[in-house]
Amino acid sequence: LRAKRMRLGIQVYNDRLAHNNTVEVTLRSQLRTALQQNQFELYYQPKVSLHNGKLCGAEAIVRWNHPDEGLLSPAYFIDLVEQSGIVHAFTRYTIESAVKQIKQWEDDETPLPVAVNLSAYNLMDTAFVPFVEKTLATSGIDPARLEFELTESATMVDISVSKRMISAFNSLGIRTSIDDFGTGMSSFAYLRELNVHTIKLDRAFITDVATNAKDEKIVEAMIALCHNLGIQVVAEGIEQQGQATLLKQLGCDVGQGYFFGKPAPHTDIDALLSTAQDVKANLAKIPSAGR
Ligand code: C2E
Ligand code: MG
Ligand code: MG
Ligand code: MG
Repeated sequence: LRAKRMRLGIQVYNDRLAHNNTVEVTLRSQLRTALQQNQFELYYQPKVSLHNGKLCGAEAIVRWNHPDEGLLSPAYFIDLVEQSGIVHAFTRYTIESAVKQIKQWEDDETPLPVAVNLSAYNLMDTAFVPFVEKTLATSGIDPARLEFELTESATMVDISVSKRMISAFNSLGIRTSIDDFGTGMSSFAYLRELNVHTIKLDRAFITDVATNAKDEKIVEAMIALCHNLGIQVVAEGIEQQGQATLLKQLGCDVGQGYFFGKPAPHTDIDALLSTAQDVKANLAKIPSAGR
């Protein structure tokens, strides 16, 4: 069963794991070993251009191949990672893995940008930027193929630190995005402060976008505002064709969600890359209405 689960990329969601302190204490004690034994694995979820229907990137999302519990979603352990001393080593591991994958796709002549999720703690780490610079230099990849996703709440911990770190990433040629945008307590004004390439509209705005006129108006306004500031817009959590079609009509640049593909091992992206990058022909069904 576990093998099947892993093959299908199905996450373990059960109450025993979610609300059990004993399990939490156990998981916490196993984090370091997990890192040493390579039990963390990056899955990749496709990002699709809503302008032309092509695969235009992938988000690296971590999974824990737990020896007893099976494949664990970060929902169960990211908080534990962040509360423990391993958060720095953990993020370095995810960046190194993602950079290796970027290099592999470059070598295969199917280059693809990859986004890695950072933690708020990485922004406080003075050794982080030198680490990234060294990793990029060693790998020889095009830095523009690496993107860092920072949640809105992580950027809000200390705006001046975030501003400085994002500038440093920009100087290295890395792209940056604000993840889960619209869920935190921020105002649009702070977009002036942060020099990011992209914002990712949180799934909360996307769920009812095609059925709720107010949600549609909010999304339309957020897209317009970001575009006026020169910021690209990604919609996350697209599960249905109707959402994709509408978002395309609203001018949203990129879509991500189960409709295009769930997070899965890199081999799923390999398959998409080898089939002319047309994601399951789903976009072919979207009317080519202009912006
Ligand atoms: P996120 O960065 O916003 O990642 C997207 C989450 O939404 C993932 O959940 C993904 O499986 C889920 N998702 C994607 N498309 C859909 C959809 O169409 N419908 C629904 N219902 N869900 C969708 P997951 O894997 O549980 O990850 C949760 C969060 O964990 C991520 O949210 C991210 O903030 C964090 N995370 C994941 N990997 C890493 C990592 O390597 N480092 C750090 N620091 N955080 C990570
Ligand atoms: Mg993300
Ligand atoms: Mg997100
Ligand atoms: Mg999210």
